[in-house]
Amino acid sequence: MNTETVKTITAKFGGTSNATGPQCMKTVSIIASDAEKRFIVVSAPGARAKDDKKVTQLLFEIASLILQGKQWNHLWMEVEQRFIDIAYEVTPQRSEFLKIFPDVEKSISENPYEDFIVSRGEYIQARFLAALLTARGENAVFVDTYDCIFFLENGTVNMEKTCEAIQRKIPPEGYVIFPGFYGQGVDGKVKAFSRGGSDLTGAIIAVATNSIYENWTDVDGFFTTNPAKVSAARLIHVMTYTEVRILSYAGSQVLHPSTMPLLSKFGINVFIKNTNHSSGTGTLIVQKMKTPNKGLVGVVGSTGFTIITVKKIGAHEEVGFGQKILEVFSQLGIPYEYELASGLDNSAFAIKTEQLKTSDMLVEYLTTAVNPDDISFTQEVGVINAISYTATDFTDTLLVLERNKINVTSQSYTMASGQIFLTLPEEDVQHAVAVIHERFFH
Ligand code: ASP
Repeated sequence: MNTETVKTITAKFGGTSNATGPQCMKTVSIIASDAEKRFIVVSAPGARAKDDKKVTQLLFEIASLILQGKQWNHLWMEVEQRFIDIAYEVTPQRSEFLKIFPDVEKSISENPYEDFIVSRGEYIQARFLAALLTARGENAVFVDTYDCIFFLENGTVNMEKTCEAIQRKIPPEGYVIFPGFYGQGVDGKVKAFSRGGSDLTGAIIAVATNSIYENWTDVDGFFTTNPAKVSAARLIHVMTYTEVRILSYAGSQVLHPSTMPLLSKFGINVFIKNTNHSSGTGTLIVQKMKTPNKGLVGVVGSTGFTIITVKKIGAHEEVGFGQKILEVFSQLGIPYEYELASGLDNSAFAIKTEQLKTSDMLVEYLTTAVNPDDISFTQEVGVINAISYTATDFTDTLLVLERNKINVTSQSYTMASGQIFLTLPEEDVQHAVAVIHERFFH
């Protein structure tokens, strides 16, 4: 007898999945095709074209005008028009739905603070989607995340209270539509997550309902490298949270960075799926794979780093030398990205150059903290991150770079995470990624 119970699904649909009428219809048919997709989280409508503004962006502009005491009605009309366009494209019940706008406009006048204003895109979209599903004869209700996602004083989510409230709010059957991006602060006011935070809402709902998490977006999943730069990039079918973290580093942020620690802590898997290609396999992200990925999992490059090297004869014997340097970074609020494999008597760190506005102060603080013989800065540094659990792939990576006359300035390989980390001149990054990828995925 098969005792396995079918798991429910939390499906989050991002901005591009809700940007236009036809996109909303794709979202609706993906939801309606699968009764297990019970918990739906939506973003506000995203950009329709390259130079278009997201609804959330318009709302941030409205918030800024309101805070300056300026007129904001023209922008509010633009927001309204976005939803009117979508509603006209998809539903005969549109006039019913459009009645929501005077109420939302009034609520903004009564709650003229940024988090409330910017959260209204998700609020309207979730109400709209619930109305759309109901009009199709589906059993669908709107549940406001204001009433069930609670923040703690320190700005993180109170998971215990939140899970309990979500479980209490959800009906025993039918679709439940939640607005992404916000919850309730300790002061009882609406509190928004950072940009892209609807991913986090989806993760929270998935944890609270112990469901599978599907994140519907506009890409097929994670690739072995950036497909916009290397056309031979391949889709990765299954990968771990750690692998995603390493390969997201170069900027391709498919998931909000705070999502993975949460999902990983609660052992929830996530599928990345493409709303525009719903039959695709997508990428499944798990905490641990029974059989780890073989060969090179992926390779990405990133530019804009400065390496800071602190030298001191005898540093190796000085207890807490590295620690004191890290304390200086933390005092000055400089997030260091990597500690590089360095020699006996020196320590080196890669820092995003844009974070280094205070280099004079940094030298002063480091001098006081560790009294070094020398501090040097190397600018225009690029980094390569790749993953393989086979040590010879690391040596092969170095060989292919040497063969292509690419000068690697530092290198490390961490067997446990499979992380290959290299630094090199920034202008060589793209070429390096291309030749490494070609070496393993030709
Ligand atoms: N709409 C919000 C943003 O643009 C949140 C999200 O889409 O995840 O950041």
